Amino acid sequence: MRGQLFVMTGASGVGKGTVRAKVLERTRLFYSISMTTRPPRPGERHGVDYYFVDRPTFEALLAQGGFLEHAEYVGHLYGTPKAPVERALSRGEDVLLEIEVQGALQVKERMPEAVLIFLVPPSLSELKRRLVYRGTDDPERIRRRLEQAEWEIRNAHRFDYVVVNDVLEEAVRDFLAILTAERRRTERMGEALSRALARDASLEEELEEILRRSHGGTGD
Ligand code: 5GP
Repeated sequence: MRGQLFVMTGASGVGKGTVRAKVLERTRLFYSISMTTRPPRPGERHGVDYYFVDRPTFEALLAQGGFLEHAEYVGHLYGTPKAPVERALSRGEDVLLEIEVQGALQVKERMPEAVLIFLVPPSLSELKRRLVYRGTDDPERIRRRLEQAEWEIRNAHRFDYVVVNDVLEEAVRDFLAILTAERRRTERMGEALSRALARDASLEEELEEILRRSHGGTGD
């Protein structure tokens, strides 16, 4: 059975990395390591946090169609290398991507079966109310935040699930619940269920055979 693709997304600063780390501790998922042209931060390791490459290397892979999705974010390129994700899915492993919103929507377009989980900060509506009615932030900041908040609300239907990251443990619990529910979908379980039915069918055949024999093979 092919693995499932889960995409964690959300605005920068919402805590995707923290939730992701906790989720990976508690369930089996193949985590897709992104490629980026951003220089490593102290402590970050090539091949663990990202594949750190220069722009020509990134662009060469892009030209070959080697990315499942990619986006430019604050002056740097980020992308999900396609091959490792495909390999893991074919092996039957579930895959997790943790990427920004534009990239997540590209994945959904290319692979509609992908499950998009949108992480939002707590009290988005409260943020909006405060921004509008108090107006203490500088106008440019208010505008950008409002735009982002409005975009998120308008586009919520494009994601499959929304998880509020207020209390970390609750967000992780919700995320794991979504994984469990998706893994239990009847369409995914179809194969396993028909195998079980086939087993039952063969049991019934065996039983019939035993009964036939006990009746001397007359079929009575
Ligand atoms: P950072 O530079 O802070 O590690 O990441 C910046 C943003 O890029 C975060 O929102 C992160 O989720 C996102 N990001 C990381 N890898 C990828 C990727 O492969 N594709 C896309 N579209 N976004 C990514």
